[in-house]
Amino acid sequence: MCLFVQRRALFSLSRRIAKRIPLLSKKSSFENMMMMSDRKNMIMSDRTSPRSMDGVGPTGTTRGSAESCTLLVVGDVHNQWGDEDETAIEFLDPDMVIFVGDIGNEDVDLVQRIGSCTRYRKVVVLGNHDAWYSLTSRGKQRAIKAALQSSSLKRISGNRDGVVESLTALGDCHIGYSSMVADDLGLVFAGARPFSKGGMHWGTVAEFYKKYYNVDSMEDSMSKILESVLDEKNAEHALVVVAHNGPTGLGSRQEDPCGVDFMEPADDFGDPDLEEALEVAASCGRCASLVLFGHMHHTLKKGGYRNMVSVDGDHGTVYLNAAVVPRTKNVPYTNTMIQNNDDDTTEMATSRHFVKVTMSRGVVQEASNIWVTVPQPCDVSSCHISESQLIVKRSTDAMDESTLSYYKAHSDEWEHVRVL
Ligand SMILES: [Zn+2]
Repeated sequence: MCLFVQRRALFSLSRRIAKRIPLLSKKSSFENMMMMSDRKNMIMSDRTSPRSMDGVGPTGTTRGSAESCTLLVVGDVHNQWGDEDETAIEFLDPDMVIFVGDIGNEDVDLVQRIGSCTRYRKVVVLGNHDAWYSLTSRGKQRAIKAALQSSSLKRISGNRDGVVESLTALGDCHIGYSSMVADDLGLVFAGARPFSKGGMHWGTVAEFYKKYYNVDSMEDSMSKILESVLDEKNAEHALVVVAHNGPTGLGSRQEDPCGVDFMEPADDFGDPDLEEALEVAASCGRCASLVLFGHMHHTLKKGGYRNMVSVDGDHGTVYLNAAVVPRTKNVPYTNTMIQNNDDDTTEMATSRHFVKVTMSRGVVQEASNIWVTVPQPCDVSSCHISESQLIVKRSTDAMDESTLSYYKAHSDEWEHVRVL
């Protein structure tokens, strides 16, 4: 790695962090740079072993290859998960299922269901809702209120810790601040800061991250993300970064992938630690192929839809927000098995949303929103894809200008379509 590039990146990093985070502004740029340099050296010399995918999933064997693989991203679940989803996954048969968090409001039972399911291979990074009662002082007030209203709230009535129970249930599948190697796919999945609620402020979550991860600041958090991203043992594999919230730097308009739409003025609500980690990694020659996240829902508070994709043509990185919420909907379904009958054969079934990403040799080829209709009773043979919508495609072919907008600012190689 070029030392000049590294120093320039570290200087840029410390300057931007100092601008964003008051704590660091108390130090000089030079002190910041040296501090970051020390941290970086620590990271480079003290890397933890990546987790192996061996034994994970229904068979524990290899199914895909580095030549081609399919990832299925589950956006914010918000309790909408059941047999239908597991059946839909079996129908789609991906090489890996990726959960970007917000399974429920600290719903340990649902996290345990996902953690123990052997019908699919998975990685997970939990979200702020998964620490609904534990993340902030506001959350703890919520817990007291909920306990007063309902004696059935199990973890509040005793000494149970919903965060610990959720992390225990997921085990190695949870990759927040860690990584997991899938040798057969030629990929390493590196986790960003778990339980992120977005934004620049650390104060309201300081106690939580100190308690569960011994992380003291946004900068510490950046170092931990870098630790998983820059693991030398993973270097031969293409890098897929999984986060709950996306990084800063993807725009500050409401409709941008992490743009604030819940208050005025609009702003960038991404995670600064993730942006810095990705940038330092890129300066070391380690660029992510794909960064997956959720948290900022696709529908905007004032109406309209969020742009769920961004492409960094310089680094070849595709950023995808998968938070289409709600991720289930009721759709009419015609039962063809009894179609000859003159009676009305149209029933209602549920459709489940996923983002399907295909990769080849570690490079994203395309990603689509897909809705899988799963009639009752749940059965793989009766599942079908009811909607499929291209989000991003690696192509230089001319495409329909009326349905596509083109990422001229970022790259001439990628094209994207806006999510519904
Ligand atoms: Zn969230």
